[in-house]
Amino acid sequence: MAPTERFTARFTTRFAPAPTGYLHLGHVANAIAVWDARDTAAARVLLRIEDHDRTRCRPEYEAAIREDLAWLGFRPDGEVPRQSDRRARYEAVLGQLEARGLAYPCLCSRKDIAAESGDVFNEETRYPGTCRHRGVAGDATPARRFVIEPGTERFDDLWLGVQEQDPSRQCGDFLIRDRNGNFTYQFCVVVDDMDQGVDLVVRGADVLASTGRQIRLSRALGRETPPRFAHHALIVKPGGAKLSKSDGDTGVRELRAAGAAPDDVLARARAGLHSPDFTTL
Ligand code: GLU
Repeated sequence: MAPTERFTARFTTRFAPAPTGYLHLGHVANAIAVWDARDTAAARVLLRIEDHDRTRCRPEYEAAIREDLAWLGFRPDGEVPRQSDRRARYEAVLGQLEARGLAYPCLCSRKDIAAESGDVFNEETRYPGTCRHRGVAGDATPARRFVIEPGTERFDDLWLGVQEQDPSRQCGDFLIRDRNGNFTYQFCVVVDDMDQGVDLVVRGADVLASTGRQIRLSRALGRETPPRFAHHALIVKPGGAKLSKSDGDTGVRELRAAGAAPDDVLARARAGLHSPDFTTL
C-alpha cells in the first residue's frame, strides 16, 4: 500500500531539512520524532525542502538527504514541496502585508543594528525598529521587515508545557526578505505551514525561541489557530557535549561508509532523543 493510503490522517506534520549540508544524527533524531507522530498521532508526514536561502543550498545536498532518508526507511506522504518553487507565493504574501502596513523596507545593515543596540550582532540581536517610520522607498532595497507590536504569545508545547514569549522584546520587527532578496526562514516556514495545512510541528528545541514570532505572523496572515508545537530536546554526544555538523562521526554518510546498517544509525539517534508523547493528542 502506498504510504498515503495507510490511514486517515488526523494531523499533518512535516520534516523540513535545509539542504545546506548532509544529514547527521541530529536530523535523524528529529525525523524519528516526526515519524513517531505519524504512528502515534496518525499524522501525515510531508517532506519539505527548505531551500529558501539560495546562497547556501545545493541540489546535491537535497539529493543526498532524500537518499539517506529513504535508506533509513523514512517515507514521506504525498508531494515534496520545495521552497525555491514558491517564490511567487512569498512575493504575493509580502505584497499583502505591505499593503496593510504590516511590512516595510529596511536599509539597516547588521553593523548599523549592532551600533544602535550597543552590542555585537548575533542572530538574536533585537531590531530596534529604526526604519519603521523612516519612509524608505520600496525600490531602495529588497529588504523587508514584519511589524511586531508588544504583546505575549502563549502556547502549550506538547513536550515543554506552556510557553510565553514576547517577540517585540526578543527580536523586534524581523526580516521577511533580506537585502540580497532571499526570503527568510521565519517567513517561509509560516507561509508553508499555513498553505500546506501543517497543524503539528515537531522540531528541535533549538528553534523554540522562534515559535512566538511565527505564531504572531501566522495570525497576521489570517490563520486563527496556529499549529500545535512539540519541541524535543536536542541529542547530545555521550558525556553531554553538543553535536556539531562538523563531527565526522555523526554524519549519516560517514556512518554508512563505515559499515553501519540503518538500524544502527536509528538506534544511535534514538538513544540521545527524548521524543514527545503524542498519545495525549
Ligand atoms: N529548516 C529548519 C531547520 O532545518 C526547520 C525548522 C522548523 O521546523 O521550523 O532547522
